Amino acid sequence: MLLRKFEAYGFKSFADKIEMEFGQGITAIVGPNGSGKSNISDAIRWVLGEQSIRTLRGAKMEDVIFAGSSERRPLGAAEVSLIFDNSDGLLPLDFNEVTITRRIFRSGDSEYYINKSLCRLKDIHDLLAGTGLGRDAMAVIGQNRVDEVLNNKAEERRLLFEEAAGITKYKQRKREALRKLEDTEQNLSRVTDITSEIE
Ligand code: ATP
Repeated sequence: MLLRKFEAYGFKSFADKIEMEFGQGITAIVGPNGSGKSNISDAIRWVLGEQSIRTLRGAKMEDVIFAGSSERRPLGAAEVSLIFDNSDGLLPLDFNEVTITRRIFRSGDSEYYINKSLCRLKDIHDLLAGTGLGRDAMAVIGQNRVDEVLNNKAEERRLLFEEAAGITKYKQRKREALRKLEDTEQNLSRVTDITSEIE
């Protein structure tokens, strides 16, 4: 699956809309210190559902919105989209191209979209689980991440291997199934209580 295009508007230093197209092979982004190279990887991580603002090098989630400069006023919202070539069908959607979008407002409200349809964060996680792009995957490795992975505890490192091997989604589904089973058992025992009261 190829990341074909990256679009951002109002994210961190990108006050104007930027669009970057990626081809096959390796793409390198170069620029002077502080020009926004890491902001691009932050944006990619963010749109894939990152919830830890510390990982995104901020203090609160609204810090990802363009905060203004000497020439420009701060913006009220930020939006990032990733456009994937899904012709290999890795994402379980019947489209050759899949666009994932995240938007945040200064109020702190976040919105997620898959192919321009509003969805929940959970839908993004479900879509990406097992593709190597999901939560805790190694698709984006930050500057301090390599040390962190090497220093991780065995259980934490195991989560990375599970995500890379595509097991996470099954573990997630198992957790959901067990929760439903537990709810059903509770309902069943309530029904049994009521039945015995009536008899
Ligand atoms: P280096 O090569 O030093 O790692 P870089 O090219 O990776 O630098 P970034 O860390 O991506 O640069 O960008 C830092 C710049 O982004 C800083 O100038 C900072 O002021 C700006 N920036 C970060 N958050 C915001 C924001 N919310 N609004 C406006 N500018 C921001």
